[in-house]
Amino acid sequence: MQGRIHSLESFGTVDGPGTRFVVFVQGCPMRCAYCHNPDTWAMNGGTLMEAEEIFEQYKRNEPFYKGGGITVTGGEPLMQVDFLIDLFTIAKANNVHTCIDTSGIAYKPTNTAFIEKLDKLMTLTDLVMLDIKHIDPAKHLELTKQPNEGILAFVSYLEEKGVDMWIRHVVVPGITDDDKYLFDLGYFIGQFKNLKALDVLPYHTMGENKYEKLGIEYPLKGVPPMEKSKIVEKKAVILDGIRKRRSEK
Ligand code: SF4
Repeated sequence: MQGRIHSLESFGTVDGPGTRFVVFVQGCPMRCAYCHNPDTWAMNGGTLMEAEEIFEQYKRNEPFYKGGGITVTGGEPLMQVDFLIDLFTIAKANNVHTCIDTSGIAYKPTNTAFIEKLDKLMTLTDLVMLDIKHIDPAKHLELTKQPNEGILAFVSYLEEKGVDMWIRHVVVPGITDDDKYLFDLGYFIGQFKNLKALDVLPYHTMGENKYEKLGIEYPLKGVPPMEKSKIVEKKAVILDGIRKRRSEK
C-alpha cells in the first residue's frame, strides 16, 4: 500500500517517547492559523511511497531507536488510514513502538467503513498524540476552519479502545492563552483514563517564511511568539482543570 508522503525525518526527538523515525504524510483538511507546515496541506502533493520502502529506511538506523520507534505525523495521518494499517502491521511484526500524531479531524463516528479500519489501526498503535487546538467549538472553527465535535468524540473513542494518549496544545498569545479555556480543556481531558501526558507548546513564528514561499498570506502576522517562561503557568492552568475533574470522581 502506498502512502502520500511529504518527508521523512530520521532522528525526531519531540514526536513521542525516545528517538524516533518520523513520517510526515501529505494532506490535511484543517487550516490552523498557526500551522507551520502549510506545505503539507495539499491532498494531491507529496511523493507516493510503499510502506515496506519506508520501513526499510527505518531499519537502516534501527539501533538508534532503542526506547523510541516510528511516529506518523503530517499533514493529517488519519486521512491515510489504509497506508497506516500497512506500515504499522510491518512495524508491530518487528516489535517497533508505533505512534500517531493527529488532529483527530478525520474521525467520523457515523462512517462505519472508516471506523472498521480505524479499529484495526488502533490494535496496531501504541500511542496517539492528539493535538486539541481549542476546546471551545466556535473558537476552534475560527482558528482551524473545522469543527471540534468529532475531535472531542475521538478522545472517548481512544479511551474505549484502550490506546494511550498524550494531549498536545499550542499556546498562542491572544488566541489560545485564555485561562478559562485552558482550564476547560483540562477539565475535559481529566475524565479520560488513557491520558498519559500533557504537552503544552509555545507558538513560534518559524513557519511564516513557508507561507511567503507558497504565496499565502500569513494569518497570524504580527502575533508575537509565546514566551517560553509563560508556558509553565499556562500548563498549570490545564493541570488545575484535570485535577478538578479527577477530584469529582
Ligand atoms: S492539523 Fe497540523 S498540519 Fe493540519 S493545518 Fe493544523 S497544524 Fe497544520
